[in-house]
Amino acid sequence: MTSLDSTPYPYEAPASADLYARGQRVTPGGVNSPVRAFRAVGGTPRFMVSGQGAWLTDADGRRYVDLVASWGPLILGHAHPAVVEAVTAAARRGLTFGAPTEGELELAEEIIARMPPVQRVRLVNSGTEAVLSAVRLARGVTGRPLLVKFAGCYHGHVDSLLASAGSGVATLGLPDTPGVTTGAAADTVVLPYNDVAALEAVFAERGSQIAAVITEAAVGNMGVVPPLDGFNQALRRVTAEHGALLVMDEVMTGFRVSRSGWYGLDPVDADLFTFGKVMGGGMPAAAFGGRADLMDHLAPAGPVYQAGTLSGNPVAVAAGLTTLRHCTDDVYARCDEVAATLRGAASAALFAAGVPHRVQQAGSMFSIFFVPDDRRVRDYDDARSQDAARYTAFFHAMLARGVYLPPSAFEAWFVSAALDEEAVSRVLDALPAAARAAAAADPATAPAAEDPAEVST
Ligand SMILES: *Cc1c(COP(=O)(O)O)cnc(C)c1O
Repeated sequence: MTSLDSTPYPYEAPASADLYARGQRVTPGGVNSPVRAFRAVGGTPRFMVSGQGAWLTDADGRRYVDLVASWGPLILGHAHPAVVEAVTAAARRGLTFGAPTEGELELAEEIIARMPPVQRVRLVNSGTEAVLSAVRLARGVTGRPLLVKFAGCYHGHVDSLLASAGSGVATLGLPDTPGVTTGAAADTVVLPYNDVAALEAVFAERGSQIAAVITEAAVGNMGVVPPLDGFNQALRRVTAEHGALLVMDEVMTGFRVSRSGWYGLDPVDADLFTFGKVMGGGMPAAAFGGRADLMDHLAPAGPVYQAGTLSGNPVAVAAGLTTLRHCTDDVYARCDEVAATLRGAASAALFAAGVPHRVQQAGSMFSIFFVPDDRRVRDYDDARSQDAARYTAFFHAMLARGVYLPPSAFEAWFVSAALDEEAVSRVLDALPAAARAAAAADPATAPAAEDPAEVST
């Protein structure tokens, strides 16, 4: 790298472009999860071939510092030797048995040891499945139909929870829930996030019908919007007063922002918790858990049905368990330190370039909102008021300099403990030019600053 405005390698990605074109012929939009397609930022989504530590390598052989970390799971970085070893050893013993294994118990015990309010755990295969199972359990236990969720929170692609959802729904600006029956939608009440008065009002009116309130422990799916002081505590108080359950979705924050997730930073004893991402260590593993008296309503202990052919899969469990066992205090300290460095440098670069913005964090998760003033982003309306065009320009300038950011202004940035000084320097070197690109972006006219020819439709 010579001058800050020169790119370390050419920007074109012909191999990825070919693969993307091929992908369009066999899978809708060329990808298996929507945000990966770069639609919000334009340009060619990078097809990846390998990852090592903090670095990704794409099909064209370009290397990137990875600040997505597979959307959170890879807190130890890519291909951590101990995790690869555990997965390989588990695979040699057999991929799946359809019968219980000791590793599942060890993973459950590790989760319970880290999460005081969780007494029983059920393992599943994705965060979506964890949430839909927890919701069924809440309805089964309470015998009530309604679910309260908050606009901008994402809980996976569960029918009843897609209304005003964050993540890809926000990124793509999709209309509410085509494919969801009016019945499922009618059983969901959507409230503004961080608004205790709205919560109290809905409970005053329909409290006896509400099975549960579900919330992200700290929101990462509309960009990072942490709860205001006392908000999660208010959820606990109001639900308890009305006999409803509180479901704390820690799929993103769990075992990432502290050894006990958001609970470790802001302890609220929810009835049920959902986990995924870090606890799978990069393999498909997730879980829900909570108080024994509630969880024991699940089959075969109780009548609420829930099952899975591959639940507790031994290879996935090996990845998750090994990852959690390596998530020591040092790992969290390193993540906090790196996140603080990157947040501070990004903000300083944007300030120097005269770009209005606000950086928000939840532990080591953070994101930048290109909002007109430095007003706090408290809810989904605030998040949507940002100039996404500025993010597009910023994103492409970083990508061109070998830094892989989330391809959406509505997603958190994720660090890993594998971010060493070389990786951090790559990011710091890229920031000033990216900030200038953001400054030059005209919020009125969107597309990619450096890659206009490749904008997909
Ligand atoms: C990622 C996420 C989910 C969904 O998990 P998947 O494994 O993608 O199904 C649910 N809730 C939250 C808070 C998430 O961040």
